[in-house]
Amino acid sequence: MRIQVWNLLFLIGVIVYVSIRGVFGMRTKGNVKVVSRVDTRDRALVAVVFVGSIIVPALYLFTPWLAFADYHLPAFIPWCGAAVMVIALWLFWRAHVDLGLNWSITLEMRKGHELILDGVYRRIRHPMYAAIFLFAIAQGLLLHNWLAGWGGLVSFAILYFIRTPREEKMMCEFFGESYRHYMERTGRLWPRLR
Ligand code: SAH
Repeated sequence: MRIQVWNLLFLIGVIVYVSIRGVFGMRTKGNVKVVSRVDTRDRALVAVVFVGSIIVPALYLFTPWLAFADYHLPAFIPWCGAAVMVIALWLFWRAHVDLGLNWSITLEMRKGHELILDGVYRRIRHPMYAAIFLFAIAQGLLLHNWLAGWGGLVSFAILYFIRTPREEKMMCEFFGESYRHYMERTGRLWPRLR
């Protein structure tokens, strides 16, 4: 393994990220699904993100195979990556807490699904995706390799641009006017400027 403080920090970040997912995955295990838009395309997108954010960084950290794509950045850059990672993990955790039992890893609605309009959902509709984007940027600032550093950002951007319109369509169909009003006053990843 390339033992270097920033690589270890990235690994710790991944462990925290997966643990948050694990805890909320357990909590929502008993949910009864009433709508599911999961299809092969969405599963393929999740697999692509897994490759970009876990498999490629693991190859970089534990094998010499990706060394051809290494590059150097100024020493302050990984410090920025560390700060971005802390913000990302905080937002990721907060979004799970605010969604509570309404969270699911994919495009689904549960029996008794509530529309969450508060907490980190008050001004943006996709704080969890914003957190994943921040995490992917942190990955790029911590791992100095074109493939391992930026694979997470590229793969998640593909998922985001394909999935988000489908998710919002599903939410509009389920919640009707309430979600449409919510869309009017919020931004997707960034608060709407008045
Ligand atoms: N896109 C959101 C949530 C990701 S989890 C974010 O980035 O924060 C995906 C699931 O969360 C969706 O399938 C939907 O069931 C649920 N969801 C998304 N926004 C919601 C909201 N405002 N209130 C309740 N459930 C929501």
